[in-house]
Parts: sequence; structure tokens; C-alpha cells
Amino acid sequence: MNIRSVSFYTFGCRLNQSETAVIQRTFEAGGIRVVDVSQPADVVVVNTCTVTAHGDADTRKLVNRINRLNPRARIALIGCQAQIQKAKLAGLPNVRWVIGNARKMDVLELLREDDGSGPAWVITPTIPRGDFTVPVAGIDHRHTRANIKIQDGCDFFCSFCEIPYARGRGRSRKFEDILLEARALAAAGYKELVITGINVGTYDNSGKTILDVIDRLEHVEGIVRIRVSSIEPTTVPDGLIQRMAGKNKLCPHLHIPLQSANAQILKRMKRKYTPQEFLGYIRKAKATVPGICIGTDIITGFPGETEQQFLDALNALKEWPLDYAHVFSYSRRQMAKSRTFADEVSHQTTALRSQALRAMSLRKRALFLNSQAGTCQTVLFEQRKEGSWTGLTGNYCRVHARSDQNLKNCFLNVKIERAKGQTLVADLNGHP
Ligand code: SF4
Repeated sequence: MNIRSVSFYTFGCRLNQSETAVIQRTFEAGGIRVVDVSQPADVVVVNTCTVTAHGDADTRKLVNRINRLNPRARIALIGCQAQIQKAKLAGLPNVRWVIGNARKMDVLELLREDDGSGPAWVITPTIPRGDFTVPVAGIDHRHTRANIKIQDGCDFFCSFCEIPYARGRGRSRKFEDILLEARALAAAGYKELVITGINVGTYDNSGKTILDVIDRLEHVEGIVRIRVSSIEPTTVPDGLIQRMAGKNKLCPHLHIPLQSANAQILKRMKRKYTPQEFLGYIRKAKATVPGICIGTDIITGFPGETEQQFLDALNALKEWPLDYAHVFSYSRRQMAKSRTFADEVSHQTTALRSQALRAMSLRKRALFLNSQAGTCQTVLFEQRKEGSWTGLTGNYCRVHARSDQNLKNCFLNVKIERAKGQTLVADLNGHP
């Protein structure tokens, strides 16, 4: 097929975003014009997500929207939902390709091979288990932070999760290949790298661990900050916390999924820690790393979750050294073990519990932000919005500051004046 223009849309996690960015580069390198999803294009590539029922519904809604805005576009649905729900997706209007995770990085090649004889469904039932590389060509400078994928898949099989089916078993990117991309990103002007994967703490390429990755990225010229996106509690090595505490490029920010603060629920979820062990991890991190921000994920409405078990999570978020939570309403997934669990919690109860957890998360976030008032922080400024520049501190606080200068991709030391809503306001004149 001859493709002149393409647009991309990404649902779901940071890893999906990083993969779309790489796929987009292959199209650009192939001389294909990339346009916004609202504009006409020959092909729209949608990188799908299946983590919740909402994610599934979002794909359907987007396909309808694309058909309204751009009825001539042919649609390629790729990624996790494509891997698991081929039959459902293949029936959507104008969907010509459904490509699972094993071949999704080859989407351009597959589209070009299409001879127009009919729709193409490219799903391999198994996903290769070997360590992998990622194409690096064609990086240009769009953002200030770049996601760098080091790992894919997972062997943990938590009972609520179908990632091991959608993305396959845990595997690692070749160590030297990570460095190749890191150097290319630095050369293109990126200053912050976000280490991304499904279960990054299990990274293992010929004995090299996530700490080896961090230590080598430290030496990439031009990279000023390294951030770890999300890491499973049982896989956080002591060395990670020590590195965050030291004078190096690793940001004092830990996102560590709790999921439930009740021992029985954690067991039914097949998580590998008790609430007390989790509390031990985060207490240690808070005690060791000055100014660290710790975020978490919590699922509520898991089958059988009682009011008291929900309150355990709410109290943990309130009392423990956690600074924010991403809250997910439990959603039954067709491949996950928990789909067979009886005693489902009603939608209404789950929605109320989610609401309460989200409100508590906002309170904890506000407390953390207030604690930053009067401190000096280094901010990587990203863009100008409504007259002020916005960027992130190392400890993951969004900062606004007024300036007439172009601050895009600049690091500045600023004095934090105060918290405002879920952000901080900084005074640029007061910076040291
Ligand atoms: S650790 Fe559990 S929740 Fe996370 S991807 Fe693996 S199976 Fe899913």
C-alpha cells in the first residue's frame, strides 16, 4: 500500500507512549508525513490498551471519531487490546489492520506489504521471549523528556492483570542498545530520560541489572536527569534508594504500586508482599532520600473487597508516607485469573470507594506541595501555557513561573513561593 500521510494515537501507559514514539520515527524515516489525529491522513495508527474496560471502550469511541472526521482513513489497531481482543476490534468500521504486540513495531513494513486484497490481522499467539533491541533512527527534538524502554512483559501473573498475556513474559532490552538510544536522544537535545518498561526492576540482560543501566546512563553526556517510571515494590534494589540519596542524576521520585493495603486482598491478588513490608520499603525511602516524592497505584473494588478492606487502603494512603495515588476501579479482564472470582463489588460501591481514594490522594498531594514552599528546586521547563512557563522538579512537582524568556528545555534553580491547587508557583527572580 502506498502511504503518504499518517497520524498516531496512543492509549494507556508510558511504555505505550514510548513505543508509539519509536514507530512514528520509522514512518518519518520512510518519508511519510505525520499529521495530527484531527487532520485527514491515509492511515491512522492507534496503539491500544486493555488494562481496564474503560480502555477497551475508548478504542471503540476513537474509531468512531476517526470515521466521522476522516472517513477515508484506513485504521491500524496495534498493541495490547489488539493482541487479546482481535475478534472484537476486527469488526469495527474501517479497521483494516489488527496487529498484536509481537509485530507491532513492524507496522510500517506490514502496511506496505498490504496488497489491498482484504483486511489484515497479524496476531501471533505467543510473543518471543528473548532479549530485544529497539530501532533508534530518526530521533528529533520535540519534548524535553524522553521515555527510554528497557524492558517488556512480566512473569508475575498478578490475578487481576492480563499484561503477561498481552505483552508476554518478562524480557530485557540489550544493554548496549539502550545506550545507543540514550546517546542519540542526548544528541537530539533531550535532557531527561524516563526509564520505562512493564516490570523494570526485573531487568536482566546477561547479568546487567537496572542499577547497571542507571550507572551507565549517568555517563551519557547531555543527560542531566534520570527518572524511573514505576517499579514493583519487591524489585526495588537497595542501591536504587542509595543512588537517589546521593549526588547524581537520579530523581528523588519513586512510583511504587501498592494495589491494596489489606493482607488478604494482596494474597488474592497474588502480590508478593504484605502491607507491613510495603510500609517498610517506603519508610526506608523517605528516611534515606531527602525531599523524595512517593506515589502509588491502588485498585479498589477487587472481588470480595469488604468495607473494612477498602478502609485499610484509605487509611494507608492517609497515614503512610505516600504523596499521591493513581486510583483504578477494578475491572474484570478476560484473561486474568480474577475473572473467575465470585463476590464482585457493585459498580456503585466501587465508584464511591474510588472517589474517596482520589479525594485522599488530592489531600496528600496538596500536603506534599505545601511542604515544598520556600525550598529551592531545579526545574526542567517544558512549555508556555496561559502566560507562564511550566516544568517539573526532580521530585515530580509541576511548577509554574512567569517569564518573558524562552525557557523551553532549560534547567533553572527556582525558589518555590507557594502551592496553588495541584501545582507550585515559583519566583524566577528569587532563584539562587
Ligand atoms: S507485576 Fe503484576 S500488575 Fe504489574 S504487569 Fe506484572 S502481572 Fe501485571
